[in-house]
Amino acid sequence: MTSGGGGHRGLVLEEALLFEQGSPGQSGVDLPDPAPVIDRLGGLERKGPIGLPCLSEPEVVRHYTRLSQKNFGIDTVFYPLGSCTMKHNPRLNEKVARLAGFADLHPFQPESTVQGALEVMGQIAQWLKTLTGMPAIALSPAAGAHGEFCGLMTIRAAHDHRGEPRRRILVPDSAHGTNPASAAACGFAVEAVPANGRGRVDLAALRAKLGGDVAALMLTNPNTCGLFEDEILEIAEAVHSAGAFFYCDGANYNAIVGRVRVADLGIDVMHINLHKTFSTPHGGGGPGAGPTVLSEALAPFAPLPWLVHGPAGWQLREHAGPDAPQTCGRIKGFHGQFGVLLRALAYMLSMGGDGLRQAAEDAVLNANYLLVSLQDALSAPFPGPCMHEALFDDRFLKETGVTTLDFAKALIDQGFHPMTMYFPLVVHGALLMEPTETESKRTLDQFIATVKALAAQARSGGEAAEIFKAAPLQTPRRRLDETQAARQPVLRWRPA
Ligand SMILES: *Cc1c(COP(=O)(O)O)cnc(C)c1O
Repeated sequence: MTSGGGGHRGLVLEEALLFEQGSPGQSGVDLPDPAPVIDRLGGLERKGPIGLPCLSEPEVVRHYTRLSQKNFGIDTVFYPLGSCTMKHNPRLNEKVARLAGFADLHPFQPESTVQGALEVMGQIAQWLKTLTGMPAIALSPAAGAHGEFCGLMTIRAAHDHRGEPRRRILVPDSAHGTNPASAAACGFAVEAVPANGRGRVDLAALRAKLGGDVAALMLTNPNTCGLFEDEILEIAEAVHSAGAFFYCDGANYNAIVGRVRVADLGIDVMHINLHKTFSTPHGGGGPGAGPTVLSEALAPFAPLPWLVHGPAGWQLREHAGPDAPQTCGRIKGFHGQFGVLLRALAYMLSMGGDGLRQAAEDAVLNANYLLVSLQDALSAPFPGPCMHEALFDDRFLKETGVTTLDFAKALIDQGFHPMTMYFPLVVHGALLMEPTETESKRTLDQFIATVKALAAQARSGGEAAEIFKAAPLQTPRRRLDETQAARQPVLRWRPA
């Protein structure tokens, strides 16, 4: 094995909570006694200590430093988690987002005092509209799934406005789980469209399902198999001739930025995951943003607020009424995840249009390098070339007793974050790898050598399967009971 995951093997401490480590009265700092409190809360003042743990400064520093070392993230390791676009996040973006003029803004400030921030929003809107060729955009969705919600609400409003409520949404069975979930959350019935043998939407099956009650097709392009939907123009044609809208899940936009204009594909609405394509640290549910571009037909139904430029400068239309008569309403407090918008704009301005296109091309090149290098050692369900992710299945593990899950866990011991497992569902035991443009050939070669060695080990028979079953062995925690964690989550610490 080439990478070796053991650099931090020793002295991995079981890290207790600060509340478990400290106890009241053991403070490492001397603070003056507080001045007597004047009760302005009508008897609501604190009756006793609130039970904060007391620790010395080195104890606190060590606690947080040790926790940070447990963080298995893009800043320390290769993180080929398919569908998530775990790319490098330039520090420049963080610097810009922390400028006091941006970071200290309050959403209730008068518009005249936040013209610079509104200009930032106007600029990012302009960039995204130009890149996609779409005429309108809603900036407020806070994530990809929220963008789906936004797009479906506008679609719903548009059909209702025409006086023909349609309540059925078609979703390919390779779709991300958020697609059917968002459709259901918006009150639509969801129907699956099968994939063909090439991992793309089965056009004939789609045509058969289209009818007067279909509100929209939700399609991901490039799709979750890492393949470009090469019949997308025929798909758009079919959807439109049934009077339905064409929703595109743009989470995989990183593969095509600057190469394809979304508008030219016949798409009516698409969300963009800024935290994937345009770099923002994400994972663990961290903040994202899912701006959603809209066609001319859907633009009047966009959610509030509407950012407009008038004689008095930038303005936000906050209310339904004569200024925004057909809006589908408000889907988020305030104006969206401003900090993420800001990071994305910093990324775009520093990359430039040509740089964004280059990033997309390099992401696709890296994925194809993985696919070609690994397709003999593993097994690939669809022949290449692929777009930005390389998809494998578990046929190479047949009769080894090793599963996709075991294989992924073994990769952790080798110092790599696992690829996405068991997604998309249309491929048995799927392993989905997304290297992004971030990675050098050297890193990819290390990863390839490690995966090949693991595959050979899995196939060697004998005790190999048991080693895989036991992995990971080098982590502070072994395999977790994920079912119990999901069914009986412990979300609050309670003193013993
Ligand atoms: C990430 C992703 C989503 C959901 O985006 P969030 O920002 O996590 O809500 C939807 N579809 C696809 C294909 C994705 O990869």
